[in-house]
Amino acid sequence: MSRFWSKAAQRCEPYVPGEQLNQPEIIKLNTNENPYPPSPNVVRAIEKEAANKLNLYPSPTVDQLKKRIADLNNLKSEQVFVGNGSDEVLAFSFMAFFDQDKPIRFPDISYSFYSVYARLFNIPHESVALKEDFTIPKEAFFQSSGGVIFPNPNAPTSIYLGLDEIKEIAEQNPDQVVIIDEAYIDFASVSAVSLIQDYENVLIIQTMSKSKSLAGLRVGYALGDADLISGLIRIKDSFNSYTLDRLAIAGAEAAIQAIDYYADITEKIITTREWTIAEMNKRGFTVLPSQTNFIFATHSTLPAELLYQKLKDRGILIRYFNKPRIENYVRITIGTDGEMEQLFLLLDQIAKEASFTS
Ligand SMILES: *Cc1c(COP(=O)(O)O)cnc(C)c1O
Repeated sequence: MSRFWSKAAQRCEPYVPGEQLNQPEIIKLNTNENPYPPSPNVVRAIEKEAANKLNLYPSPTVDQLKKRIADLNNLKSEQVFVGNGSDEVLAFSFMAFFDQDKPIRFPDISYSFYSVYARLFNIPHESVALKEDFTIPKEAFFQSSGGVIFPNPNAPTSIYLGLDEIKEIAEQNPDQVVIIDEAYIDFASVSAVSLIQDYENVLIIQTMSKSKSLAGLRVGYALGDADLISGLIRIKDSFNSYTLDRLAIAGAEAAIQAIDYYADITEKIITTREWTIAEMNKRGFTVLPSQTNFIFATHSTLPAELLYQKLKDRGILIRYFNKPRIENYVRITIGTDGEMEQLFLLLDQIAKEASFTS
């Protein structure tokens, strides 16, 4: 704490991202990155842009990328906002739609950045307890005073909430913004994007970090009513005219067009996920029903923290959250088949050792 810090700098409690160890031999199953590379067309587009135009500012309005995202979702460009990763879009949304005198609601077990932003921007919040089975209790989100935000599928639980429930939550908050953070939606059954035609209070936020294999490029976007989008643009233009650089714009445009490539790797990940869940079950794990590129699992005898530590010692990183209700769960990103085979090899070793020592 420095006496020079503003109240905001004193108050905030920064988000702690999953470890990024720079050892090539480490298998990273801890930050839900895609194990496959982005489309080769994305890399080519970035290289071409880098070779030509870096002396020029990028487009402040990012029109072409917005148009492409709009077309893909049957929307108009005015219904699309793009930002530097969906984390930035989320931060702008907190500033654009939530106020300091009205509490917002999000689940008690959820993406931990929400409470970080709430604190930074001094927005009070009510945390809604997930049900015993970790599903979202829709009624608890009705009639909020300041707005609602949750991921769908939820993170780190991986559980998907159906469109009908989301619709009800939107209907029961007619004067508040309901934000659906769809970071993992491409691994799930269906997006809530269709709701924005009928519900002017629904904002959908998506990212290219997970299903598009572009966590390193930092591109996220919001889809919603044109009035919501102009609110976001006002905040962004009061902060930084150029949140997306030229390379990010070029890469994102190419990614939007590489539909077959991404359908293919997404299907591969879903197949590996289903096989992984079956293998985990065989080994005595309970795995929550996942519609994401990760699983959330607990074991009847092996403590989660021990698993995390022992896997880390042997070169596999997974995520462990030392938080109430989930302190005996681990979150494991779905990697390639080979990476998951290595995980099972180590899990079997660890289980064997534990049975000798207990
Ligand atoms: C990964 C993730 C994000 C952030 O994605 P970026 O676009 O990389 O900033 C947002 N919300 C949830 C729930 C996530 O898991």
